Amino acid sequence: MQDMTGVVPVTSMPYSQFKEHVGEQVAIKGAIHNIRDMSDFAFIIVRTARELIQCVYSPEFSDYRLTPDVVEQCSAKVTGKVVPSETRDGSERYELQISDIEILSTPAAIPPVVISKKQVTCDLATNLDYRPVTLRNPKERAIFKIQEGIQRGFREFLTKQNFTEVHTPKINFAGAEGGTNVFKLDYFGKTVYLAQSPQLYKQALVPVFERVFEIGPVFRAEHHDTSRHLNEYISMDFEMGFIEDFTDIMNMETGALQYIMNLLKTEYAPEVELLKVDIPEIKTIPCVKFKDAKALCMKKLKNITDMKDFEPEEEAFLGKWAKQQFGSDFLFVTHYLSAKRPFYTMDDPEDPEVTLSFDLLFRGLEITSGGQRIHDYNMQVEKMKKLGMNPDEFETYLMLHKYGAPPHGGLGLGLERLTMHLLGFKNVRYATMFPRDINRVTP
Ligand code: ATP
Ligand code: MG
Repeated sequence: MQDMTGVVPVTSMPYSQFKEHVGEQVAIKGAIHNIRDMSDFAFIIVRTARELIQCVYSPEFSDYRLTPDVVEQCSAKVTGKVVPSETRDGSERYELQISDIEILSTPAAIPPVVISKKQVTCDLATNLDYRPVTLRNPKERAIFKIQEGIQRGFREFLTKQNFTEVHTPKINFAGAEGGTNVFKLDYFGKTVYLAQSPQLYKQALVPVFERVFEIGPVFRAEHHDTSRHLNEYISMDFEMGFIEDFTDIMNMETGALQYIMNLLKTEYAPEVELLKVDIPEIKTIPCVKFKDAKALCMKKLKNITDMKDFEPEEEAFLGKWAKQQFGSDFLFVTHYLSAKRPFYTMDDPEDPEVTLSFDLLFRGLEITSGGQRIHDYNMQVEKMKKLGMNPDEFETYLMLHKYGAPPHGGLGLGLERLTMHLLGFKNVRYATMFPRDINRVTP
């Protein structure tokens, strides 16, 4: 064997380079996505990592003759001459005139659902049952390329803002925030819990790194089957120290979202185009206090019973209101009631009934919760006691406060929720590669 050089030569010419190679023989590698046999010639569409490339077979082009083993979903190396395509709208496209097809792998069966059409048309359950196959459809694939762009934007933006990326444990001795929706599991005879958020750990890392973020799975034992809840989802979290007040967190999130949307428009343009994504313009994001937003909802909507939080109908109404009033797809709602926020949330010193917290609504759906956290040891212990919690059970967590923590705060942003509403889906499962819900743990 020769020594490793660290270089893997490109063996498949990306479509974007075809233009510079018109008239030349090039090779591409991919899956045979679709074959349209027109008796004396055939269109063979090759699916590469991010593109569909049109190739044309005709006996006139070379001595190569199409063989029966060229079937949809086989992996192949296709060689041919780059030529301009004839397009109906006169747009500039290129195709390959095939001079050879080398089969690299042959499928054992025909796919159970049609994936070579523009869109996968089966129902959602079937789509999810055959996920390893349906994801190959370019539109399905584009959803997750966009999702990659969102995560990448979050990561790039925060890295540029001096955040350190961390990973916190998902198996914990105590449920992060308690409550009923934690998964219990047996850990060598002990009961442990799956993390429902990285909250307590990311706070612990503020005195270490000042600014941290994490993109990772969290687990919620939600017993209901809704269109916006999963039992495992990806949470994009950050936590930052030395904040002036909690608007610093909202400003940082605004910056992250501006960066993400811009990245999608530029580096994910093919997927944005394919899925006709309506990318929101974010100049500034308006803010409204919870009690004012609630009053507005009460005036306009009937049958609202939960006075301490918003019902989905109210979020949808506020989304429309923000669009009409401010022309914004996003709306920060601030100062949620203390009774409704977790124990680590900082109360507003001017009105202890409310907290220095916020949610971000995107087109009428909650995508983020965040706020300022308590950093003072005595204040945190007092609040725990007031809520009937036993501070002794939080000894590790309280090391943060006991041994000194700066004023800090942060947020959690649901990746699938954001993807879902950006792409206009009615169900979060469309924006989840392999969803885990009350009825599904496979594939
Ligand atoms: P909701 O009120 O919509 O159930 P939540 O307030 O319980 O959400 P948080 O604990 O605030 O959720 O989580 C922060 C973010 O994580 C939410 O704004 C949302 O984007 C996302 N999220 C929360 N729960 C789920 C879930 N079960 N499935 C998918 N995403 C979720
Ligand atoms: Mg929330």
